[in-house]
Amino acid sequence: MNFTKSQTLFEKAQASIPGGVNSPVRAFKSVGGTPVFIQRAKGAYLYDEDGNRFIDYIASWGPMILGHAHDLVVQAIQQKATESTSFGTPTELEIDMAELIKSMAPNVDLIRMTSSGTEACMSAVRLARGYTGKNKIIKFEGCYHGHADSFLVKAGSGLATFNIQQVPGVTAGVANDTLVAPYNDLEVVQRLVAENKNEIAAIIIEPVAGNMGCILPEPGFLEGLRLLCTQENIVFIFDEVMTGFRLAPGGAQQRLMVDADLVTYGKVIGAGMPVGAFGGKREIMEYIAPLGNVYQAGTLSGNPLAMVAGYTLLSELNKTQTHYNELDEKTLYLRGGLDSVFSKSGIPYVINQIGSMISVHFSDRPVTDFASAASANNALFSKFFHAMLRRGIYLPPSAFESWFLNNALTYEDLDLTILAAGESLLEIQQ
Ligand code: PLP
Repeated sequence: MNFTKSQTLFEKAQASIPGGVNSPVRAFKSVGGTPVFIQRAKGAYLYDEDGNRFIDYIASWGPMILGHAHDLVVQAIQQKATESTSFGTPTELEIDMAELIKSMAPNVDLIRMTSSGTEACMSAVRLARGYTGKNKIIKFEGCYHGHADSFLVKAGSGLATFNIQQVPGVTAGVANDTLVAPYNDLEVVQRLVAENKNEIAAIIIEPVAGNMGCILPEPGFLEGLRLLCTQENIVFIFDEVMTGFRLAPGGAQQRLMVDADLVTYGKVIGAGMPVGAFGGKREIMEYIAPLGNVYQAGTLSGNPLAMVAGYTLLSELNKTQTHYNELDEKTLYLRGGLDSVFSKSGIPYVINQIGSMISVHFSDRPVTDFASAASANNALFSKFFHAMLRRGIYLPPSAFESWFLNNALTYEDLDLTILAAGESLLEIQQ
């Protein structure tokens, strides 16, 4: 494969954009090499500036669950754009969107739209603090909730990829209010809560972690956190920016049958437009301005183009269970195929998967938290990533990211991916 134009563009980009990218993981720094500059995408395929085609397992980091440039979404945006791109006033479409989300997601009495997942998580935490009158929060090592100050403590995703332990610019005061526990370790959380009696406003968690690869909650973990939150008057926040509308119409809450007090959304909810949302129980949500004094706002919140794109995609997902069933079947098929080529290779590996989220760690022990994800052979992952890329398979450029399947993928695409994985494993062993 030829990447000449991407290389030229990357050099040019670095002259005017920090590191040449507008979000760090895109720079390929952890896997090395030159980021691929994408020109367009359709369905399951990305096409780069050099004319290469890739089977896409990033799906724009989650949103493109039915594939790129979905006809219904494109038509809806085109039509809406002729009516202006923003008003800054209430619109009927926002009510439609809120009602649709409420009909799909459990425990959402009221919902507020934002322009990103970061804003949604940041606002949910502020709301939990305002509601409980307490300051501290507990998060989990390797979970990523966006780049607001209080989350940049032992975070996953790009921070894990670049091994950033402490973020300059985040004050000690803010960092000290964020307590961190290992994922899947209920005992540590119980201890933190006991040591900080009546000080914890919220526990925020990715109910399935997707920012240290894909890591599943062990049986009883989320249930234990739920009970603890109820007993200690702590707001339980599910960050469903990745899992929302992906693992089921009602996200991880529905799939794992655990109730949250507040939920945050992003990615699928905007069909690739800049959207996030936070919602939850009425009693808590009523603290948000203008009902209450917890201030939260946004010039472009509820933007008509973003709303129509998200509404169209969610409506399509909500029509039948078919998309979710097909995504599950395709992901299980991929998992089975990868299992067979990896086991033949003799290289130690772990595949974690739920619904259409899946990841591979080069590890000889279960990957259940950040420590086990970080101790995997991530240098080997980098080689695997490039071997796959050269074969036209576009994986996330870091072992600390989940892969996302989209329902435009065909079984032929999956077979090509499995074949490429087998060849790549042979290549990286040499
Ligand atoms: N929460 C989770 C679980 C995420 O994966 C992300 C982004 O990857 C965010 C929050 C932040 O969302 P955004 O990048 O839209 O600000």
